[in-house]
Amino acid sequence: MSNDTQLSLFNESSFNQKDLIPTDSKIPIPTDTYAKIDDLAQHCRICQRCELGKTRTHAVVGRGNLQATIMIIGEAPGQQEDETGLPFVGKSGQLLDKILASVELNPDNDVYICNIVKCRPPENRVPTPDEMAACKPYLLEQIRLVNPKIILLTGATAVKAVTGDKRQITKIRGQWLEWSGRLCMPIFHPSYLLRNPSKDKGSPKWLMWQDIQAVRGKFDEIRNHG
Ligand code: SF4
Repeated sequence: MSNDTQLSLFNESSFNQKDLIPTDSKIPIPTDTYAKIDDLAQHCRICQRCELGKTRTHAVVGRGNLQATIMIIGEAPGQQEDETGLPFVGKSGQLLDKILASVELNPDNDVYICNIVKCRPPENRVPTPDEMAACKPYLLEQIRLVNPKIILLTGATAVKAVTGDKRQITKIRGQWLEWSGRLCMPIFHPSYLLRNPSKDKGSPKWLMWQDIQAVRGKFDEIRNHG
């Protein structure tokens, strides 16, 4: 190699800043990478850490209060979320907002809502373990930045992705779990409630009513006692 070629390697203009941002799955995303959610969202919008980046319309990062006491984590964006760039805006989202309103929780002020993966899986399939692992650092950064006291995990996929607990949602819903020093409660995914409309005692909707009241109780306890 000639001296000139060797020296050209020191040339700053050949230094591609974009290669250094962790939107490539080969580059880890360490904790404290982002100072604010906006910075993280910017990376999500150009992210290709997994295959889902190729087919998304919009990366769906989150909605609600960035300092909320409660964080709600779902599985993945669906069609309407992909089109709008907002999580839980379809029928499931409308039901979730109603569930929150039933115990006077305001979706804009009291909660922050996001998903395990930020891009829509084709045909709304369940995200693969690789896709969830590729996207998880973004979620961990969201949790660090929002710093919620309570995390609600909607459905078994969200529970497994966050805590590693593989039990069925019917077995663990409504139970408080401690994960990373935070109180988490697995709850049914609203889409499951849409498929099971009965409100009879013991039905999924009835159980959700019990769970959301327990969440409201904990929310009040935290608010009143810090
Ligand atoms: S799902 Fe997550 S990891 Fe995959 S491309 Fe989208 S933002 Fe990146």
